[in-house]
Amino acid sequence: MIYLDNAATTKMFESSADVYREYACCNFFNPSAGYSKAREVFHQLNKVRNKIKDVLGAKGGDVIFTGGATESNNLAIMGSKRNGKWEYVFSMGEHPSVYNCAKELSEQGHIVHFISLNKNGEIDYNELESKLNEKTRLISVMHVSNETGAINDLAKINKLRKKLSPSALLHVDGVQAFCKIKCNVDSLSIDFYTISAHKFHGPKGVGALYVRNVDKLKNIIYGGGQEKGYRSGTENVAGIMAMQDAINNIDIDKNFEHVTILNESFKKSLKALDKNNQISFIDTKSPYILSVGFSGVNGETLMRSLEDKEVLVGIGSACSTKKSGNRILESIGLKKEEIKTHIRVSFDFEQTVEEVDEAAKIIYQTYQDIWEKVK
Ligand code: PMP
Repeated sequence: MIYLDNAATTKMFESSADVYREYACCNFFNPSAGYSKAREVFHQLNKVRNKIKDVLGAKGGDVIFTGGATESNNLAIMGSKRNGKWEYVFSMGEHPSVYNCAKELSEQGHIVHFISLNKNGEIDYNELESKLNEKTRLISVMHVSNETGAINDLAKINKLRKKLSPSALLHVDGVQAFCKIKCNVDSLSIDFYTISAHKFHGPKGVGALYVRNVDKLKNIIYGGGQEKGYRSGTENVAGIMAMQDAINNIDIDKNFEHVTILNESFKKSLKALDKNNQISFIDTKSPYILSVGFSGVNGETLMRSLEDKEVLVGIGSACSTKKSGNRILESIGLKKEEIKTHIRVSFDFEQTVEEVDEAAKIIYQTYQDIWEKVK
């Protein structure tokens, strides 16, 4: 099998699974309990917080463990909501766990602005500038798009925020960026940064939210007061410890270099076969994710046929309906007919050039076989 849907999820590292087992079966103590074995687990969790802060370049602030990025995004957005007349700004490219929070805020009567994307899939910076003002409470924008691999220019966004909405909070959904592309939350003055372990070979159902200043946040679930009261419920200790192991196994720069080679080689192989210019790519900056259009063929049909040949690709966000992919590609300016032809190919640093070149050949041949039938 050639697995090219790494943006949907990744396989857990063997060593992370070993750590998971250790903390599930041996060091299984509740970190909130009072005896020393439990205090030790509590101490270990704090070390993971520091590790995440290190990777994010955060000198201060807190890390709140959650049940994954959907929860982290909900906590950052719904937890920074305030009574009164505030405005909220989101990009049209956001994952449903952000986009649907925005829709909920709008239904609750808040003023919500959705900013379109430019042709490279990044937020339209001019439109963003036109919507920011001193009433802006929160700007929420993803670091890397899970649909297209577009990288938003966070420095530019932060500059606009400082100039036009100095009291606004900045939330970044970093799910497709953490452990892949470097980010310094201090130099970018990011208030909230979301991560999810299963996107970087950790376990599913565990993530975190970096928070610059917890006073700006309110809990959205109620319970026993774990995670300083911002996320009640016994922590997923085994998951958190396994997440730390996954982080420790990753070399961001080395992997970025290798995945860039994979991405370029894959594109080159497809282009070499595509004598009639039937294939198009959305030109974005993250080498990890590539949206590819196959003229005249439905992406979903192609994905299913590829499965029979043991090549797994995505058609947009796996954890949502296909509608979200449409919203994002539509905002970039693709026509409805064109959107349907897209698949998402996402790479992993453990893959080889031979593997992705082989996948390109299979994908092209499968496309041609379908094309011959439908044209
Ligand atoms: N944001 C982005 C950008 C994502 O790609 C995903 C996962 N598809 C999520 C949020 C949700 O992550 P989780 O599965 O951890 O809830």
